[in-house]
Amino acid sequence: PPLQAPDPFAALNAQQRDAVEHGIADGPGCAPLLVIAGAGSGKTMTLAARVARLVLAGADPQRLLLLTFSRRAAQEMERRVGRVLQQALGLAGEARPPALPWSGTFHSVGARLLRAYAPRIGLPEDFTIHDRADAEDLMGWVREELGLARTKHRFPLKGTCLSIYSRVVNSQAPLAEVLQWHYPWCQAWEDELVRLFGAYVRAKQQQHVLDYDDLLLYWAEMVSVPELARELGARFDHVLVDEYQDTNRLQAAILQAMKPDGQGLTVVGDDAQSIYSFRAAEVRNILDFPRQFGREVRVVTLERNYRSTQPILDASNAVIALAAERHAKQLWTDRTSSERPALVTVLDDAAQARWVADEVLRLREQGLRLRSQAVLFRAAHHSAALELELARRNIPFVKFGGLKFLEASHIKDVLAVLRWVENPRNRLAGFRVAQLVPGIGPATARRLLDALEQAADPAAALLAFEVPAAARDDWQALRTLYAALRQGEAGWPDDLRRVQQWYQPHLERLHDDAPVRAADLAQLARIAEGYRSREQFLAELALDPPEATSAEAGPPLLDEDYLILSTIHSAKGQEWQAVYLLNAVDGCIPSDLATGSAELVEEERRLLYVAMTRARQHLQLIVPQRFYVHGQGKGDRHVYGSLSRFIPPQVQPLFERRQPAAAAAPEAVAPSGATVGLAARLRGRWG
Ligand code: ATP
Ligand code: MG
Repeated sequence: PPLQAPDPFAALNAQQRDAVEHGIADGPGCAPLLVIAGAGSGKTMTLAARVARLVLAGADPQRLLLLTFSRRAAQEMERRVGRVLQQALGLAGEARPPALPWSGTFHSVGARLLRAYAPRIGLPEDFTIHDRADAEDLMGWVREELGLARTKHRFPLKGTCLSIYSRVVNSQAPLAEVLQWHYPWCQAWEDELVRLFGAYVRAKQQQHVLDYDDLLLYWAEMVSVPELARELGARFDHVLVDEYQDTNRLQAAILQAMKPDGQGLTVVGDDAQSIYSFRAAEVRNILDFPRQFGREVRVVTLERNYRSTQPILDASNAVIALAAERHAKQLWTDRTSSERPALVTVLDDAAQARWVADEVLRLREQGLRLRSQAVLFRAAHHSAALELELARRNIPFVKFGGLKFLEASHIKDVLAVLRWVENPRNRLAGFRVAQLVPGIGPATARRLLDALEQAADPAAALLAFEVPAAARDDWQALRTLYAALRQGEAGWPDDLRRVQQWYQPHLERLHDDAPVRAADLAQLARIAEGYRSREQFLAELALDPPEATSAEAGPPLLDEDYLILSTIHSAKGQEWQAVYLLNAVDGCIPSDLATGSAELVEEERRLLYVAMTRARQHLQLIVPQRFYVHGQGKGDRHVYGSLSRFIPPQVQPLFERRQPAAAAAPEAVAPSGATVGLAARLRGRWG
């Protein structure tokens, strides 16, 4: 179609244009495309432009499958595509460009496909999706049922068991191999783990629940049936994947089955930013992509960085250049600046928090909104002192990664009711809800759930269940609610309001800070309004929770403008004008937990690279000389830190050295009991 000015594609450079225009004329049959390039080189932008270009060339948006790393990334992508289309079509502000119904994470798309195809692969249609915490609880439950929790020798914790299970699923490797390479201290338990995982799988089937891994596993199983693979492959003319370096084997297998010759497949990524191998991501996916599909594959590399200033890029390039594995990419930019990134030496955690808060406010005065600044850290608990400092100074913030809104107990209570209504066989939800009724303890709850499991009609069995006399009135109230919700009397989102009305007295009984928590529930109700149905609401929440903070997690969102706090992992793909990295010391990055093997250390180096390349204008790495270590069973201790090993002397001149005016030498200050106590309190709150 003739393009009307302004041409949204005019800004693309020649390589980006190559990628955008690749095979457009060939339609669905176009050869596979790989864009492999460094941070900030416009990979995501190019992918968005390509989607828009496909639509302009007549592709049906319904037949485009766009896979991103998070729901946030999918929404951002849709926004970008929309903007390009709007410009290209010369649409007025009101007219909306076509939506992309099939964009999201592998997991959320998997959930939708499974829902649609459930009957054809023998999956119950009413399945619920367990989030990580629920899956862990179920694993813990099964572990206890098998008597493994009580063995004398230390059997791995439920979280470890789930991680091992998950790794086996996602890497498609035998258990023995996973244990040998990643959990050597659990090798002695191989037989028990086999038993445990078998029972875990059976429990999921009995209760009609799927965990995260199942969403991929069943999807893969679905496309292992040739007829279904053809059908699913034909359903999408183009499959486009961002951040391909962090996909795992199962995900690559799914793509391969859907598009055996790679036609219509576009993947983009950066091997230097592969940071999810702990979740079985397989960097070989991207490196082997050209070989996988043979000479057909078109490979495009991008070398110009549009994000960061030259000094930031120089420092980032220097850090990644020391990697054991070569990432042969040199980025350049024309964004000059006289400001080098800073290495800021501070005394300790508290001084770090004060420094960052000061700097954030200083830059805000210079015109940088809080939202264009971000504080990044290796581990979620690293930001505890900063969160306290920000709260004290009334600087609003939102935290990504770490304790989420949905992990707060009052939110979980309410959601459990909805999940239990949706699927009466869901033991975890039932166990949680039943025990909200005073007078019902674990024994009665267990009896109830056993009865439901054996009943042909579990909902009817629930309504007929008799409870101890003391619990009768409250049980009756719950039963009435349950029956009403099962019948769908009120509809969505009124269903949720009814649950909250029922929950209110329990909230007041269980929590001293009920009013604050009630505000969270009100926020949950607002979030609920954005979903069509209970089913959609629950599925999306389990997969990709909204970024809200709860009364348990930190101060509520007061302002339109807020500072971003994020783990490095959750910062992937994003950019800010100013970036502060907390704890740029050995022990934090690389993490103490990751120094066991050279590969783990290399992944930490790539993490630092990811963190540094998020910055557009200003970058600061903060180096506290004293920091806390969360001692395993030994309580907190202070240790004296040194600058991260990833910034050796030959790299340091690329940074400017800074420190707060009154910083004393570390020896001058004795570790104080008071600060240790504070850390312990914080851990209690965030931990
Ligand atoms: P990452 O590896 O971190 O995911 P990326 O390669 O996906 O980075 P993008 O986020 O797409 O990079 O782009 C980085 C920044 O550069 C964005 O602000 C984007 O708008 C800008 N950009 C990309 N290409 C161009 C271009 N041709 N002209 C102007 N700006 C561009
Ligand atoms: Mg990107």
